[in-house]
Amino acid sequence: MAAVNLVAAARRLVIKVGSSILIDPETGRADEAWLNAFASDVARLRQRGQQVVVVSSGSIALGRVRLGLHRRRRLSLPEKQAAAAAGQNLLMRAWEQAFEPYGLSCAQILLTREDTEIRRRWLNARATIDTLLGLGVAPVINENDTVVTEEIRYGDNDRLAARVAQMTGADLLVLLSDVDGVYTSDPRRDPAARRLEVIEALTPEIEAMAGGANAEAGVGSGGMATKLIAARIAQHAGCATLITLGERPSPIEAIEDGAPCTFIAPAVSPAAAYKSWIAGTLAPQGSLTVDPGAAAALKRGASLLPAGIRAVEGRFEKGDAVLVLDAAGHEIARGLCRYDAADAAKIVGLKSAAIEAVLGYSAGPTVIHADDLALTGP
Ligand code: GLU
Repeated sequence: MAAVNLVAAARRLVIKVGSSILIDPETGRADEAWLNAFASDVARLRQRGQQVVVVSSGSIALGRVRLGLHRRRRLSLPEKQAAAAAGQNLLMRAWEQAFEPYGLSCAQILLTREDTEIRRRWLNARATIDTLLGLGVAPVINENDTVVTEEIRYGDNDRLAARVAQMTGADLLVLLSDVDGVYTSDPRRDPAARRLEVIEALTPEIEAMAGGANAEAGVGSGGMATKLIAARIAQHAGCATLITLGERPSPIEAIEDGAPCTFIAPAVSPAAAYKSWIAGTLAPQGSLTVDPGAAAALKRGASLLPAGIRAVEGRFEKGDAVLVLDAAGHEIARGLCRYDAADAAKIVGLKSAAIEAVLGYSAGPTVIHADDLALTGP
């Protein structure tokens, strides 16, 4: 699919905006004109019913000016963390102000690498982002730089954005960059460098092109090498990636008008990628045995309700993966359980409407939602 149509067809987009685009190098402040034009881009996408998640850098760059650290060439980690703390609110203020004229609200989400890797936190973050998008709010996400140490931080928002795309089941990741795509070699040094229009597979040859002198292309913290790492994460999550120049006003509209970019195709659909992660990667922590009616319903694509469960085994937490067994004890599916083992056991066989009275709370009518269920049986 051409990049032009890809943007129009995307249901949920994650757009990464780097510091080099967002910050005016003259003043060290957020570039209001650019932000306003970008906000009009987001408003246009939203009007078409598309959901937009923004991953925005810039806290450290804004904060170092605010703290008078901008003349230092290198900052220590504690200085970077202090700058991030002082800059993050300036960053959000800039986003708020840009969105306001379009009647758009935004919400700040700060994530660490662990939030994108530990399943329970991941599920919580995903639920919050889903809720915000459902309410018509644009989540603006950054790394929680103030609490992460060098070894455990992403450090670049390209990979963070790819993880967010994976976590939220996005179908398009847009990396706004200071180069307009992936080149066969560094375009600043090699006049024969050619931009790749479409990348179907991230082969070692392509990775080699983005390595070497080209790895650092761009002034942000993520060069072309980290962009391709991000694209690979997205690809396996069923999400397409577009790498394009971000400096121009309304860069998303520009893509739709045919501006140059590189498109990296997804390997699978987001739902298939998510289900194969549930079925293949997660170690089940327990099992739910279901009656024949529920087993048949699951095979038809239904969610698992407490009424269809006969027994709960194992020690699992809310959000853990569990096996779903038929009455004969054969595995028919795996899924993420919305109740922990103790609570699941208390609601076995009950109607969903009774959950709240028995547990004192409800995490929803389903024990495993169909979206979180992968059929694994014959
Ligand atoms: N999280 C960093 C910041 O907001 C930026 C990381 C990046 O440049 O990709 O300043």
